[in-house]
Amino acid sequence: MDHRIQEMENYATFHHIPIMEPDGITFLLTYIREHQIKNILEIGTAIGYSAIRMCLLNEEITVTTIERDPIRYQEAIKNIKLFQLENRITVLWEDAFDVKLENTYDLLFIDAAKSQYIKFFEKFEKNLTKNGVVISDNLNFHGLTKVDETTLSRNVRGIVRKLNLYIDYLKENKNYETTFYNIGDGIGVSVRKEIA
Ligand code: SAM
Repeated sequence: MDHRIQEMENYATFHHIPIMEPDGITFLLTYIREHQIKNILEIGTAIGYSAIRMCLLNEEITVTTIERDPIRYQEAIKNIKLFQLENRITVLWEDAFDVKLENTYDLLFIDAAKSQYIKFFEKFEKNLTKNGVVISDNLNFHGLTKVDETTLSRNVRGIVRKLNLYIDYLKENKNYETTFYNIGDGIGVSVRKEIA
């Protein structure tokens, strides 16, 4: 593996930055390759790890990614320069809820604040192409979405409830066909249905 990728993984471990888990990123990259996805909108850049890995798949891929934390944003910019991917990765240093985007994307990848997933989905689905897909990471929240709630702290319980609401929201959303995968930290793939 490229030593620069390894260094980003080490940096994330050392600084407790939650980048995608190995199985999760492998799944995501395989999905992008198999479905020939080209334009990606990512919510939650952190240090640019997943954005860089997605772009390295193929030269036609472009990523727009949003990060609100200034230190992570700066680190992402530094890493993207290191890979000379400035022309294909655009990082927006903003809260995702303040961003206004007109472009459309083949893939919306949601990997940010877990309590806001429904809002991210509803804000950005208008930016999906006709056959677009939404991939959501962290749906298992380290297995916590499946445990007895009473064993959890109040704060964690709040996040778990919101994630479970999001899972129900995806299941009930008639405009999308969602498949859930027990891979990495739990991934949902929601494919927009053809409108007759
Ligand atoms: N996708 C990254 C990867 O795998 O390399 C990891 C992203 S990390 C799980 C989530 C990031 O989303 C954090 O860095 C956090 O600061 C950012 N974030 C959370 N809520 C956000 C929001 N409303 N707008 C922008 N960024 C947000």
